[in-house]
Amino acid sequence: MWRVERVAGGLEPVRLPFDYPTFFLFALVTVGAIVAVPLFGYYIGYTWVDWTLCAALYFASGMGITVGYHRLLAHRSFECWEWVKVAFLIAGGWALENSAYKWCADHVRHHARCDRDEDPYNAKRGFWHSHLLWVFYKDPPNLYAKYEAQFRKDPLIMWQHRYYVPIVLSGLAFPFAVGYMYGGWVSGLGCFLLAGVGRVFLVLNSTFCINSVCHLWGDQPHTTADSSRDSWVVSLVTFGEGYHNYHHAHHRDYRNGPQWYNFDPSKWLVFGLSQVGAAWNLCRAQSERTRIVA
Ligand SMILES: [Zn+2]
Ligand SMILES: [Zn+2]
Repeated sequence: MWRVERVAGGLEPVRLPFDYPTFFLFALVTVGAIVAVPLFGYYIGYTWVDWTLCAALYFASGMGITVGYHRLLAHRSFECWEWVKVAFLIAGGWALENSAYKWCADHVRHHARCDRDEDPYNAKRGFWHSHLLWVFYKDPPNLYAKYEAQFRKDPLIMWQHRYYVPIVLSGLAFPFAVGYMYGGWVSGLGCFLLAGVGRVFLVLNSTFCINSVCHLWGDQPHTTADSSRDSWVVSLVTFGEGYHNYHHAHHRDYRNGPQWYNFDPSKWLVFGLSQVGAAWNLCRAQSERTRIVA
């Protein structure tokens, strides 16, 4: 992929380096999810433990991204207890979407430079680029360094960045251990495939739809300043993140679906945490000036 870079004397096209390790990692997850997961199900079969843990880890790692990485860390939509933040950092790490440090810097750049060359998942480059292919190209450091600076000050974010690989591995080892305890090696392999590899593949692709589908198809009731769209269908599988046009218009708001009938489990979780005193200073669109203290 090429990017136009500003150099002394004008603009010059620069070829971005291809990230082969990340490509092979994602290829492994994809082949595992669409070949190994159904084959195991066909020849051996999954138990209720595998399905339950798959659903539980989909919920935990999905919310780790939507509530933790996205609303809490990237947009500072609310504040919470430190152990809640640590829980979100671990659960979000299990989604294999990079450390919160890198993820948040990319995401803030997406909002700041939406639809432009500097937007890491620029939807103007087409569905597949914004959905997945952007992951395989390394941007030059001058593009993201200034967006990373604000997150470098947070010791918990930097702790998660340092231990990102062990955190990812723990999200795969955990279902294997549960399956093994339930029924031995074969059961461990089944639980690892369904609740580990299959679940990672589903969370990756559902959240990737926010960058692709929600910038290509849907309504724009809140802003036409960029390509963001509202898609209630995407909200069903991303814990409410499909109301992406509202989110681009009011990115500090802890809600993405502002109406009570909008399917936004992420906002319900944040509100629930505020009701037990674990979260506070929940931002609402009108309250950029008057923050609500829950
Ligand atoms: Zn967006
Ligand atoms: Zn955002």
